[in-house]
Amino acid sequence: MKHRYIFVVGGVMSGVGKGVTTASIGKILQSRGLHVTAIKIDPYVNVDAGTMNPVEHGEVFVTDDGDETDQDMGNYERFLEADLTSTNYMTTGRVYQTVIEKERNLEYKGKCVEVVPHIPLEVIRRIKNAAQMAKADVTMVEVGGTVGEYQNILFLEAARMMHLDDPENVLFVLVSYLPVPKHLGEMKTKPTQYATRTLNSAGIHPDFIVCRGEQFMDKPRREKLSVFCNVKPEAVITAPDVPSIYDIPALFESQDLSSTILKKFKMKPRSTDLRTWKAMADVQRTAKRTVKIGVVGKYFATGDYTLSDSYISVIEALKAAAWSHKVKIQLDWINSEDFETHPKSISRLKEYDGILVPGGFGTRGIEGIIAAIKYCREKKVPYFGLCYGMQLACVEFARHVLGKTTAHTVEVDEATVDPIIHVSPIQLKNIRENRYGGTMRLGAFDCKLQPGTLTAKAYRASVISERHRHRYEFNNDYAEAIEKKGLMITGVNPGSGLVEIVELKNHPFFVGVQFHPEFKSRPLNPHPLFKAFIGAALK
Ligand code: GLN
Repeated sequence: MKHRYIFVVGGVMSGVGKGVTTASIGKILQSRGLHVTAIKIDPYVNVDAGTMNPVEHGEVFVTDDGDETDQDMGNYERFLEADLTSTNYMTTGRVYQTVIEKERNLEYKGKCVEVVPHIPLEVIRRIKNAAQMAKADVTMVEVGGTVGEYQNILFLEAARMMHLDDPENVLFVLVSYLPVPKHLGEMKTKPTQYATRTLNSAGIHPDFIVCRGEQFMDKPRREKLSVFCNVKPEAVITAPDVPSIYDIPALFESQDLSSTILKKFKMKPRSTDLRTWKAMADVQRTAKRTVKIGVVGKYFATGDYTLSDSYISVIEALKAAAWSHKVKIQLDWINSEDFETHPKSISRLKEYDGILVPGGFGTRGIEGIIAAIKYCREKKVPYFGLCYGMQLACVEFARHVLGKTTAHTVEVDEATVDPIIHVSPIQLKNIRENRYGGTMRLGAFDCKLQPGTLTAKAYRASVISERHRHRYEFNNDYAEAIEKKGLMITGVNPGSGLVEIVELKNHPFFVGVQFHPEFKSRPLNPHPLFKAFIGAALK
């Protein structure tokens, strides 16, 4: 089978939406009946994203096979409705690691192993392998970083070599930025011209330029970029800021992008169908009612990154669930530390239809989160706890219902007399030996649901599979005690007996899950538990 590749590279600056552009181009090609997969190349030396601070790098997205990857992988999964694997993700560290391992195993048969060509060749091997594994007609490859940096040169070199080898089946998209300086009030094309030249100096010529900016680009600028950057006018695409990322595929199609791509690949024209996608993206414009959800956690923001990058999958899962109920969603971030300094401020939670506590690590803001959970349990406010949000719901229950006032997770209090959340001997060893990279409980695990429960009804299944990323676990010594008092264990991993779901009796919706359901939610196929949570919030 013939595999085609589209490399997406960034110019001018980072943070302009290469990931969403990559996912959206994938989507419009998919809507023409092509089989599409996507690869993210992260130039970092980290072997995976698991050791990167989400506040700086964004969410760590987890695949079914337990890889800790970049948040863009989540965009690909959501837009392409696909389950990707570690094959679809690489970093500089990972590529070098393989080459060094091969060298140690004498696989280069005595040759000198050099940065060029051996590193780009390993990159190419990985790209082609991903295309083959997915049986993809088209493979989108996003090269992280910006052209002109040292960091991604070897990846651009790999792309150049692939194009040299098979020019008809490799295309390049440059995602650039067109600023509108306030004192001038007009859109400037020069930075994009320079970015194109920088890309040219790496031996690559863009087939398309996607022009990000606050506004639509006008005709004179399109023509100017076409002439100065040596790209046909129809291949210069305007991509202004839009209310929702889900509007971008339609925006691209309004400029015939997918048919121009097919022409470039010398493929026959094919009909397109983006109707269901557009209908999903339209709900936020047409819906009349709004559901108000509070997300409680420790607050962090540094530089360009804030909570919204760290929890992108949670946000998208909530939106998708709300839209499936044909309502808009208002999301507020609530700093749990406020409840520690001003305990009375907890009453502000009554403004919300539902409260969610997402995953997290460490000790900061924990008592505030526990106070919020107590409020939800007592006042019967719909509560959804993800991972840490489940663990802390168990801590709250142990303290205030079982009367074990100092109960805790050993992550926060190693010496607690009531370690309701504890750590397995294997994980303890990892911690003691500082083995942190890729050693959490990661990826998809089965979970057996107890029939008749709220969760089993939401899933309409008896066994489910969900993705994990955590080190600590519910301590089964407390299982009987919590169930007696009404916190039911409604989901268990069949092999290990590990508790995966707890659910409170006689409450409209109080569910804690040890896994991360947000990773499997898709805009066109929202997650059943998020749907049930929003459903309860609407009531
Ligand atoms: N910190 C907790 C653990 O490691 C929860 C992790 C999470 O929420 N992803 O078990």
